Amino acid sequence: MKNINFIYITAVVLFFGCATLKNDTSKKQSFIEASVDLINVENDKVKIIINPPKITQEEIIFYIPQIVPGTYEYSNFGRFIENVKALDDKGKSLKVEAIDENSWKIFDAKKLDRVTYYANDTFDGPEGKDIYPMGGTNFKEEETFLLNLHSMIGYFEGFKESSYNLSITSPKNLKPFTSLPAISKSDSIDVFSAKRYFHIIDNPILYSVPNAVSFDLDNIKVGLAIYSPSGTHSAETYKPAIEEMMIAQKQFLGAANKTPSYDILLHLMGMDDLQYFGGMMGALEHHTSTTVVFVDQMQKQELTQSLVDVVSHEFFHTLTPLNIHSEEIHNFEYNTPLMSKHLWMYEGTTEYFANLFQINQGLIGEQNFYNRMLEKLNFSQRYDDKMSFTEMSAGIVDEPYQTNYGNVYQKGALINMCLDIIIREESKGEKGILWVMQNLAKKYGKEKPFKDDELINEIVEMTYPKVNDFFKNHVEGNTPINYMDYFAKVGLTMGDTEVPLPSILFKDNKNPFFIPNPDESGTVRYIVDGLNSSIEKMGLKVGDIFLGLDGKMLPEIKKENASQINEVFAPSFMWDNDKEFTITIERNNEIITLSGITGSPKAKVTGIVEDINADDYSIKLRNSWLKN
Ligand SMILES: [Zn+2]
Repeated sequence: MKNINFIYITAVVLFFGCATLKNDTSKKQSFIEASVDLINVENDKVKIIINPPKITQEEIIFYIPQIVPGTYEYSNFGRFIENVKALDDKGKSLKVEAIDENSWKIFDAKKLDRVTYYANDTFDGPEGKDIYPMGGTNFKEEETFLLNLHSMIGYFEGFKESSYNLSITSPKNLKPFTSLPAISKSDSIDVFSAKRYFHIIDNPILYSVPNAVSFDLDNIKVGLAIYSPSGTHSAETYKPAIEEMMIAQKQFLGAANKTPSYDILLHLMGMDDLQYFGGMMGALEHHTSTTVVFVDQMQKQELTQSLVDVVSHEFFHTLTPLNIHSEEIHNFEYNTPLMSKHLWMYEGTTEYFANLFQINQGLIGEQNFYNRMLEKLNFSQRYDDKMSFTEMSAGIVDEPYQTNYGNVYQKGALINMCLDIIIREESKGEKGILWVMQNLAKKYGKEKPFKDDELINEIVEMTYPKVNDFFKNHVEGNTPINYMDYFAKVGLTMGDTEVPLPSILFKDNKNPFFIPNPDESGTVRYIVDGLNSSIEKMGLKVGDIFLGLDGKMLPEIKKENASQINEVFAPSFMWDNDKEFTITIERNNEIITLSGITGSPKAKVTGIVEDINADDYSIKLRNSWLKN
């Protein structure tokens, strides 16, 4: 919607004028013309035409990406493409041969005028659930189109650096929202320009009924657009929280922020979609935008906090990998990828900052921050703690590394916390990991990658020998980290504290308030075996049989019914504190429905707390760590 560079657009308009000289392959245009038809959707498929410049070789390969930046897994987007045809300027078919899932060889390519095919969306169909929803496509005729173009538009061998003109015909009631520069917009056709193929995939587009806000923050233009199937979530509602968050992020980053504009595409899906994706939701980073996919049923407070946590993470990606990245990322190969060793930074630093800036800028309190680190510590134990992080990163697309990917958000963030504390200690509180990143951003940038093998040495040279020991032992090496050593340096210890419950269904921070239990006939039901303060207030008692939640009844408790059981439970994770709800139980052969309000029940846990015996130096170090 924003981010139009007028100088660039003018040049493209001139080029565009030449495009009318079509159909004569000897006078083909110098750029790639791609067109997408969102009006005549056939069987949930969208027709796409790609018209390349004059091809001078006998054969050429047409690719759809196997993998795209920021996802760290094979997506094989070619599987969503069908009926690939190559045509000459008279409409006659040229021979096409599929090489693999993602590439097609076109013969007699000198005669090639255009390639046509149909794209399926990833929000339904047999294999779409393998794709992260935020990196996928959703076609809902007349209602919304989420376009992550890497799953729709391809590139020709040798033409990755050519510019694209992308024309999209769309229903009148839907408007596009994207950071891709527009050449022209109208009710029926929008024309966008991309300097090279990378920009096609770096700028997703959301078509929906207009529901967007934009505002200026000093030097940065921010846009937020929402597609909400029920229409309950308006962009205006979330503007204050996004504004507060981005101001705080800018203050935190200081000079390291170089982003001129930032667009947030929020696509809310239904509970059935969430089921389809196995509970997966989130966001994918781009240079000047992010695609966020959450669930429409999330209530306002819940959606606001999720947006703050997730969008701040995506925005910090503008620092790394977008402005600090290795050659592997810079020259990203969509069909034969080489991975970098530094996910501890790309995802770890990013996730750490998304938490640290909130305490640093006063959006959350100290205990909340310690609880977040504790949660990461607990979560990280589900993964292989003895796996070298750099080795995992370089091999991330394959096993055994792929199943450990989730640890980049857990241990990856904790690695940065430890580095931060070491650097604070060594510099007497002066510097931290943010200082390192600010310096790296100054040295490198969008167009200047670092050498993958040299990064760690470079950071060590900027800092201290102890940083080297940490990298050698715990990032490159496979020695698990003793986190308590680092907490002790900043006057923290383990002690009694309280954490909010993950949902009303829990009795403590790990266990639900019920357990499966067979009755005399062998039918398994859930029996209440513990309480939290909110359900206790409603009148629930230990020993009650748990039959249903908020009007939805549980099926028989068995594996085959897992998804129906999920359907009953999932909404409770999206409730705000003031949600009124009911629990249906059986007690003494009588079915009773109890009603109450979620409130904010807490669990007593052993967690990270401030050590009352900490010395002044540790406290000083803690303050510089959290507040500097
Ligand atoms: Zn990320």
